[in-house]
Amino acid sequence: MKSALSERFQRLYGRAPAVLAQAPGRIEFIGNHTDYNGGPVLGAAIDRGVTVALAPRDDGRRRFASEQRPEVATVEAEAPLAPVTGSASWVNYPLGVLAAFAAYGLRLPAGFDYLADSDLPVGAGLSSSAAIELASALAFAHLTGERLTRDTLVLIGRHAENHFVGVPCGILDQGVSGFGRKDHLVFIDCRGPVFGTVTLPAGVHFWIFNTHTRHALVDGLYAERHRECMDAARALGVAQLAEASPSHVADRASHLSIKLQRRARHVVDEIIRVEATLAALRAGDISTVGALLTASHRSSQSLFENSTVELDFLVDALVASPHVHGARLTGGGFGGAVMALTSEAFDDAGAARVADAYTQRFGRPPDILHTQTGDGASLLSP
Ligand code: ADP
Ligand code: MG
Repeated sequence: MKSALSERFQRLYGRAPAVLAQAPGRIEFIGNHTDYNGGPVLGAAIDRGVTVALAPRDDGRRRFASEQRPEVATVEAEAPLAPVTGSASWVNYPLGVLAAFAAYGLRLPAGFDYLADSDLPVGAGLSSSAAIELASALAFAHLTGERLTRDTLVLIGRHAENHFVGVPCGILDQGVSGFGRKDHLVFIDCRGPVFGTVTLPAGVHFWIFNTHTRHALVDGLYAERHRECMDAARALGVAQLAEASPSHVADRASHLSIKLQRRARHVVDEIIRVEATLAALRAGDISTVGALLTASHRSSQSLFENSTVELDFLVDALVASPHVHGARLTGGGFGGAVMALTSEAFDDAGAARVADAYTQRFGRPPDILHTQTGDGASLLSP
């Protein structure tokens, strides 16, 4: 993708890019809605992502293009760093990164020509947004000679998304895109946040089934779950749910409505599942890892109530298939995608059987993506 991108940059802007940077998409492996509750989460960077090509301009003008968008958007030199609306609003991701540079006291490039390309499905829960933020940040920093630590890179991406784009995401997406490593999972203790990696046993594969469904109220529902978790923490007398244990929740159940009991139980149990998954990974016990993934989905389904009939159908069909270790919704829920962790023996025919059953039931096929782990954000030579 990268040399082809340089050529297309050349065709579009009439000169070569000065720098190329890439950042991967990610899978939420386990840890559903734990991040903003101060809990741990495990994710995997995948072998697909966003690449950004960039060259400086002397006139202060910022020109943005994307292979996935029809037109070039120009931001004039004197224009303030403010979100744009309309068809070019995707530029809020790179513009938000520039605003984050300013907030972090980093030198930001004045003028430039910018071209993004991606082999990630957008809005499929694989975090194309974090990928475009991190690839943009690395390219901008290269232009001004800023050396970003990986922690700062991740925080800048999140800052752009939270404060400029206006999505209240936790640290998972950017953390995994930044710290991903082939054949590893990224572990994030969201309280720090502290980032680490853990080896993924050899011979496991990821299959993503994207339903293309998205609950009409997904943003509101996400915010509602967030609020419910904060309310549950308050009623339990803790600053965040990560400080509560299952017995704490059980002992104080009478202080919580049935709904808040469910939300709290999901989060405190899920935190224990993430820790158990880490231990099972370290022991190379992949069948226990798979069982924990499926248990996570069941908890999302019955306690956190962020699953859908489509996601449940896929999980049921997958866990009933041979060579599948476990399956769960990946991402915020209320639509989106299911991921299955499988052995090498799971193949296109196995995936097609699941997809066919899904199509019969819902009238349209899911998209299937067979993917491996990949490396985190990095500069590429142009
Ligand atoms: P997800 O992160 O799950 O893919 P989001 O809704 O958070 O979904 O982010 C998707 C948005 O990110 C797109 O609507 C677009 O604004 C921006 N984006 C991601 N990749 C690209 C790209 N290659 N070109 C232009 N915009 C992109
Ligand atoms: Mg996103």
